[in-house]
Parts: sequence; C-alpha cells; structure tokens
Amino acid sequence: MIIGVPKEIKNNENRVALTPAGTQELVKRGHTVYVQQTAGVGSGFADEEYAKAGAKMIKDAAEVYSLAEMIIKVKEPIEQEYKLIKKDQLVFTYFHFASYEPLAKAMVESGAVCLAYETVERVDGSLPLLIPMSEVAGRMSIQEGAKYLEKPLKGRGILLGGVPGVKPAKVLVLGGGVVGTNAAKIAAGMGADVTIMDVNLTRLRYLDDVMPKNVHTMVSNEYSIRELVKDHDLIIGGVLIPGAKAPKLITRDMLKTMRPGTVLVDVAVDQGGCIETCTPTTHENPTFIIDDVVHYCVANMPGAVPYTSTLALTNATLPYAVRLANQGWKKACVENTDLRNGLNVIQGEVVYKAVADAFNLHY
Ligand code: NAD
Repeated sequence: MIIGVPKEIKNNENRVALTPAGTQELVKRGHTVYVQQTAGVGSGFADEEYAKAGAKMIKDAAEVYSLAEMIIKVKEPIEQEYKLIKKDQLVFTYFHFASYEPLAKAMVESGAVCLAYETVERVDGSLPLLIPMSEVAGRMSIQEGAKYLEKPLKGRGILLGGVPGVKPAKVLVLGGGVVGTNAAKIAAGMGADVTIMDVNLTRLRYLDDVMPKNVHTMVSNEYSIRELVKDHDLIIGGVLIPGAKAPKLITRDMLKTMRPGTVLVDVAVDQGGCIETCTPTTHENPTFIIDDVVHYCVANMPGAVPYTSTLALTNATLPYAVRLANQGWKKACVENTDLRNGLNVIQGEVVYKAVADAFNLHY
C-alpha cells in the first residue's frame, strides 16, 4: 500500500503520526511510505532518520495526499486540508467528528474512508488509542501541579515530597481511571500523601492492592470531597462518564474553603471539566486564579511533550496501521472488531451512530 504522512499544521501541534521506527516496519513489509519534509522535527525526528528507514521525503502536503492510498495523521484535518483528501482514500487519525459539524460534512462529501482513533474500541470497551494520551496527561498533571505549587508561580510554596522533619504535600485525585492512576503513581513516587477517589468500588479495590502505602482510596461523594478540599494542596480532576459531560465535583463555593495557593489541575477539561470554575486554557497561558486558588486547565496537555506523546501514540497506532496496510481497510475491518469500531465515514456514508445523531446526518 502507498502510505502518506503529512506534517501536522494545527496550531501548536508538534506530534507526528509515524516515527522512523514505524516507517521501517511498514517498508520492510513491502509498503511505500511518503513523509512530508520536517513532519517529525517537532517530535525530535529528522528527515534523514525517515529517509534512512526507507521513507521517500516529499516537500508539499498536496503531493503526499495525491500519492497516498492511506493517510496517517494525528489531529483531525483542518479546513485547508479538506480539499486534499481524495475519494476512496483511507484517513486514519483522531477526528472527534461529533464536536465539529463542518468536518463531518466535508469528510462525507470527500468520499474518503475515515477511521477515527478515538472510536477504535476493544471488546472490553477500552479505547486503545486514547489510553496513551491519558497516561501522558495523568503523569504530567503532577509535574505541572508541583511546579505551580511553587511560590513564584502563586502556589502555596510547598514541596510535594516534603523533607525529613517536614510533612509532604497532600494530593487529591478525582477519578481512578487511566489519568487518575497515572497521576497517583507519580505523586506517590515523589513522596506526596495521596488520596484517590472513584465511584467504582471494584476499581478502588484494585488500586488499593497495587498502589504504594502513601496512596489511600476513598469513595467519591460530595460530602467527602467537601471535607478533603479544605486541606489538600494539589487537586487533580480525572473523571470521565463516557459519552457525557464530566460531573462538577468541585463547585465554586468550595474554593473559599481551600487554603490560598492550592492548585487545581482539571485534566477532564476537554470533556467540560469536573471543576466548576475551570475553563480551557493553553500552553502559552496555562493558569488563572480565582479566590487565591490556581487553576491549570490545558485541554491538550500531551502537546507540551511531543517526543513522549508521539512515541506513546505510535506504539498504539502502528499495529493497526500495519494491519490496514497489509490487508486493506475492508478485510482489516472485517477481521478486526477494534478497527471496525473505528469506522466513522465510508465513501459518503456516516456509519457511526453518535456522529450521525449529533448532526442529524443519514446513518
Ligand atoms: P477513564 O474512563 O479511564 O477514568 C475515568 C474514571 O472516572 C473512572 O474510573 C470512573 O469510574 C471515574 N468517575 C466517574 N464519575 C466519578 C465521580 N463522580 N467521582 C469520581 N470518579 C468518577 O478516563 P481517563 O482516560 O482517565 O480520562 C479522564 C479524563 O481526562 C477524560 O475526560 C479525558 O478526555 C481527559 N483527558 C484530557 C487530556 C488533556 O490533555 N486535558 C488528555 C487525556 C485525557
């Protein structure tokens, strides 16, 4: 198959959909890989590394699109890319169709086959191409939180791990899924006193088994959250109710009960956030302060660590990309239910119910 890897052009996007290692895996199976020049530079991969791995380097995005049978990307196509996508071309990337109608309509009109990373789903309901980004964001939430707890950045001025003779900081993690587990693990490793809350008792039992001694588990409810926010230094929001907006677990009135310089990191901000006062921020301007409480609400946290994020994402996408290249999308989607679940649009037809429902499109 002929595979094209364009450079990402969305604002501040430095990830790339294929690494030189991934290129080599495809080339050695007999596929042709066209990579747009400088596509990997933002993630630390030079053109020469791709060329050495067997890629053909191309200057223009338009040429990459015109040559390829399958385009592998990271972010959804933006307006200037719509016209480059051809009829029958397979596009394998994050689409998040339900959040942007013009994209859904443009892809229907293009006649392309759109396989969305975010809906590739295993039989157990897990989402293998979303997990790596939650792992990155969860771990990063503690790194960012620790930084904003420093006094010059308007935090309480407390060191996460404390020192001998001085108590460590207290970290509260809301949600014990992928984000929450990764956050708790890093906070615990730094020596903080960590409490992780979830509504799922089975999950809490598992976390209690695997987490170190400085991580405590608690059932999540309004009463307990109200008590805990009063003396916790760093609070991480990592709850998710699939297909719905996140519940507001921290309400405006609770801020006044927190200590000045408390830091809130709402990782769930991309689903509306679980902290009432959080609104999306950017890496250029990541925080704001309300009632002396620091709010960090960056909606694309993994974007700040493109080297790690690219490797984490491509580790997960590559086995699927190899299968699509070897078998073609039709056979691959018949044989592999994970991939079949990823199909959103096929040659002018919306085939994913939630996308059709979002815009009243024919399904
Ligand atoms: P997940 O499904 O693995 O975990 C969510 C957890 O929240 C589950 O264990 C669930 O039981 C728990 N939960 C639900 N209601 C709760 C409640 N009322 N109180 C406490 N816990 C509750 O999801 P995840 O992969 O960890 O993702 C969490 C959120 O982070 C999602 O909204 C995701 O989109 C977001 N995210 C954001 C970024 C970013 O850059 N900001 C990056 C990755 C993921």
